[in-house]
Amino acid sequence: MKFGGTSVADAERIKRAARRIVDKREAGERVVAVLSARGSTTDELIEMAGEVSATPDPREMDMLLSTGERISCALCAMAINDLGHRAISLTGSQAGILTDESHTKALIVDVRADRIRAALAEDSIVLVAGFQGVSRNARNVTTLGRGGSDTSAVAVAAALGADVCEIYTDVSGVYSADPRIVPQARKLDMVSFEEMLEMAASGAGVLQLRSVEYARNHGVRIHCRSSFDDEPGTFVVAEEEMMEQPLITAVTHSTSEARMTLIGVPDEPGAAARIFEALAGANVNVDMIVQNEPASAGGLAEISFTLPREDLRVANAALEPLAGEAFAELLAHQDMGKVSIVGAGMRSHPGVAAKVFGVLANEGVNIDMISTSPIKISCVIDLERVEQAVQLLHSAFELSGEGTVAEEEPFRAR
Ligand code: ADP
Ligand code: ASP
Ligand code: MG
Repeated sequence: MKFGGTSVADAERIKRAARRIVDKREAGERVVAVLSARGSTTDELIEMAGEVSATPDPREMDMLLSTGERISCALCAMAINDLGHRAISLTGSQAGILTDESHTKALIVDVRADRIRAALAEDSIVLVAGFQGVSRNARNVTTLGRGGSDTSAVAVAAALGADVCEIYTDVSGVYSADPRIVPQARKLDMVSFEEMLEMAASGAGVLQLRSVEYARNHGVRIHCRSSFDDEPGTFVVAEEEMMEQPLITAVTHSTSEARMTLIGVPDEPGAAARIFEALAGANVNVDMIVQNEPASAGGLAEISFTLPREDLRVANAALEPLAGEAFAELLAHQDMGKVSIVGAGMRSHPGVAAKVFGVLANEGVNIDMISTSPIKISCVIDLERVEQAVQLLHSAFELSGEGTVAEEEPFRAR
């Protein structure tokens, strides 16, 4: 059972999560719970770092950020003890979550869950601090990137061979669009791994992308559901298990994109490799890449790509040494957004892209970049037009569900 930040935001909610965990135990299950930091704790910690340093050391950043999840786990263990059950809280490191050496977006490489197993065998409920691990070689505390507690939970579930990994959050499951932007969005009973991967990659933060990858690779069953009621949520399943394959499943969006354009790139083998090797070396997650062959022979090319806005500074620093050689000039646009549609049905259905572009054109939304996969179409657009674009596409593809209205959704202040 994984509880997100909103679900443990104050004392009342910690007690509620504790009650829910205990109910499960009393129903005869053995339970490991992974908790996130409370409310906006992680944001506050990032802010705190910014107050003492403009470029906080990544290792120390991880020491700082990992504390939020420890607080939640210790408090929840106390609440469970008061309900008459034994509980033990563990840091990611104590729980045996081993990662690579990178800081602030480390990858889990192994979970050595013997300590969790031993505690379960002694009939304890185990609380694992999400979002963190310890690096395999240097044994530094690492964190797994924003939203990383989802991945902690899936990794622990995989290591223990758990029946299910339940992700308790502040919405009732995965929706056909972010219900905060599209109140008529429909809750999906099931979504395939393929679609969920595309959705998470294109901004549906309800599940961290890596948690979905990990679940698919290790065969973990994810059930994403509300921490405020007992209704079933969304199951993430193999494509073969899907009952139906609608043309379009969801509209997703991101408001945290930036774009870089490199002008005057030599039209020769190895030019792109140099640029993207430098970015990879700095652990920058590049998303869309667009390059065209120069129109005239001997001309220079332009390469544009998108990246998370928070990586802009690091990307700049990584590319600076290549200026004048791998490219002539670098332009950065901070405020880009992205809207995408995802659906397995579009594989065999022509005309979807034309419809997307038409819907945006009708409202005068300009498309800066386009990228596609067999089951996704993404458009980079102006940040200010993102919400409107999501609503337009959601209604153009008729994704609203009958009877699923916003008032059923108990949105709490975050
Ligand atoms: P937690 O703290 O529980 O991990 P998150 O804030 O990370 O919660 O994720 C839940 C949020 O994801 C929801 O409140 C919702 O605004 C957002 N979200 C974005 N896209 C979707 C979607 N397609 N379906 C459901 N929620 C979505
Ligand atoms: N607390 C971390 C974050 O805010 C991890 C998580 O919530 O999953 O990103
Ligand atoms: Mg989350």
